[in-house]
Amino acid sequence: MKVVERISQARSIIAETKTAGNTVGLVPTMGALHAGHLALIEAARRRDDFLVISIFVNPTQFGPAEDYEHYPREPARDAELAEEAGVDLIFAPPPQEIYPEGFTTSVTVTGLTEGLCGRYRPGHFQGVTTVVAKLLNIVQPDRAYFGEKDYQQLIVIKRMVADLNIPVEIIGLPTVREADGLAVSSRNRYLSPEQRAVAPRLYEALQHGAELASQGASGSEVEQAVKKMLAKVPLFEVQYVEAVHPNSLEPRGDARAPMVIAAAAYLGETRLIDNVKVEEGSGNA
Ligand code: AMP
Repeated sequence: MKVVERISQARSIIAETKTAGNTVGLVPTMGALHAGHLALIEAARRRDDFLVISIFVNPTQFGPAEDYEHYPREPARDAELAEEAGVDLIFAPPPQEIYPEGFTTSVTVTGLTEGLCGRYRPGHFQGVTTVVAKLLNIVQPDRAYFGEKDYQQLIVIKRMVADLNIPVEIIGLPTVREADGLAVSSRNRYLSPEQRAVAPRLYEALQHGAELASQGASGSEVEQAVKKMLAKVPLFEVQYVEAVHPNSLEPRGDARAPMVIAAAAYLGETRLIDNVKVEEGSGNA
């Protein structure tokens, strides 16, 4: 496994492996690798011959009051985990490699980025789409792998790739969870033991919503029920609970499944997000 910081180094290694006839898979990450990332890496390894992961804590997707400075950075541990997982190349550029002096272009996906997390994190998705477009241009993978944990991000990236005719297949993979249901996240380490103990209640509430949706409840009914359940949990401060269409991300309102029930909630300073998907006709009550 190689670790490189420069775009030119990544490009030449990738060009060589492509010339040898290998397919290339890319897993973009912000590092601090965990079981969620490792599941993406595992899927990529099964599918593609040469596996690249990027590790880049992207400053432009963090708001001014967010945790960019304190976001965990553990390059040595990440390299060990990546090597064990069969990664061939880590591309870990410093910020100035991605945003050199004079950088002024960004990619904006409208509509899909306006609801859910987009409403509360202005500029976040523009930061994400811009850096992902750059990573796709730098690596030029056959496939890129993303987690459904960040459901809105996955849909936004699929849209961007379709709209800009970027020649890559975007693969979405299911959320990896702790044994008690909490979605694995780099930010879970910020939780105090008391906060950690109640954190799985977010997923429990979403599952309850999914159960109602599969019995025929409408989007609005599901949202109310999930909010009511979360309101009973001490320490949680709910930012949003929304039931949206899985592709358009439009609120379902009076409509029934299919829907994705997505939520964001704070435990102290730590913001957790999670979602569950309910397929069409999963209940005909
Ligand atoms: P991050 O390093 O948080 O930017 O995440 C990098 C990729 O890993 C994104 O595609 C995330 O959606 C994905 N990811 C993060 N947590 C999980 C999880 N618990 N299960 C599956 N994928 C995840």
